[in-house]
Amino acid sequence: MGHGPCPCKFRLSISGQSTPATVTEPNGNETTFTGTINFSAEQCFTGEPMCNPAVNNFTITFEDNGNIINFTQGKRGTIACIDNAVATLIDGTAQASGNILDGEFTVDFSYSINPLTNVASIVITATGEDNTVFQTTFTAPVSPQTFIGDCNSDYTELAVPVPIPDGVSNLPPFVYFDVNNQFTAAQRQRIKDAISGSMLAWATHMDQKWNRGTNNGISRLASCANTYATQNFQPVWYHGPLITNGLEATNLAMDQFTQLIRDNGFRLAPPAKIDYQIPSPVTSSTIRGETGFNQNRVPLSFIINPTQLDPGNINSITLTGSMFHAWLHRAGFQDPKTTSYFISEAPMCVMRGNQPKSNIPDPVLYQFFD
Ligand SMILES: [Zn+2]
Repeated sequence: MGHGPCPCKFRLSISGQSTPATVTEPNGNETTFTGTINFSAEQCFTGEPMCNPAVNNFTITFEDNGNIINFTQGKRGTIACIDNAVATLIDGTAQASGNILDGEFTVDFSYSINPLTNVASIVITATGEDNTVFQTTFTAPVSPQTFIGDCNSDYTELAVPVPIPDGVSNLPPFVYFDVNNQFTAAQRQRIKDAISGSMLAWATHMDQKWNRGTNNGISRLASCANTYATQNFQPVWYHGPLITNGLEATNLAMDQFTQLIRDNGFRLAPPAKIDYQIPSPVTSSTIRGETGFNQNRVPLSFIINPTQLDPGNINSITLTGSMFHAWLHRAGFQDPKTTSYFISEAPMCVMRGNQPKSNIPDPVLYQFFD
């Protein structure tokens, strides 16, 4: 049956990366160049939830002090993708030009993203009709345009590394989100940064509470929330002893974040979906998370307004606060999102770097809570 020409799609681009490259002649003579490489490949890619077989090109240009090796008019042979992180092309063809090589070459390449570092490893091999071989292996930062994904899905999985705080064991290496493909790569990156920021606030709290093994520390977040929060300390699922202050509420909430992270990262909860919705009026929503009614297996799903992610609208720490508020909803805490309520005061502490309130009125911050 097969998959036809497009089992998946990708868009890759690297410019100005320094790398060595080797040319091996048919007689075995090898020459190594050290220069800069530009690489771009677009295969089957479209921004829609489908693939377009007519999209079929790749280009490689390499230069070392006037030694120029170009491969243009690149066409695929067979492509494959793994998990939004690896893209390969084998048995492609391209025309060599420059002052070193010419003629038609058969090209193979692989592009593998390390999600921990967001750095890609690239291997390119091109073989001429006379068996001259061009080869290069290098790493490069993943550019915002980069995309590797399925043809038939409206969502592409995003893996976000989990920081490992002191005193918390049994954590997964990543949490996972199925992010709607309507978000641009730049918007997707902002979502990832806000999730990372929220987990950093959680991990910092855990480190400070662990207090080098005593586990009786008061984190700066807990101290800040304790100063300002006076209402709605308990998640809706909670039936333990009454929580009476912001310190206890923060400790409980951050333990519940641990639960959310484990359930997500070990895939015990249903997949977390991040949906795309432009509300009316357009600034009336940022990141919406419904209040979770259970302690276990709650999916970390959100609805996000893409326009709020665009440049100049909301800075990083404010967006992290908005995400943190949405996580508190999934942890079972309830609005109203106004002064003195735990679900507002704790994320406002995150937004202020746990500093005391100054001359910024609360509504300037909580306008970005849903
Ligand atoms: Zn809310």
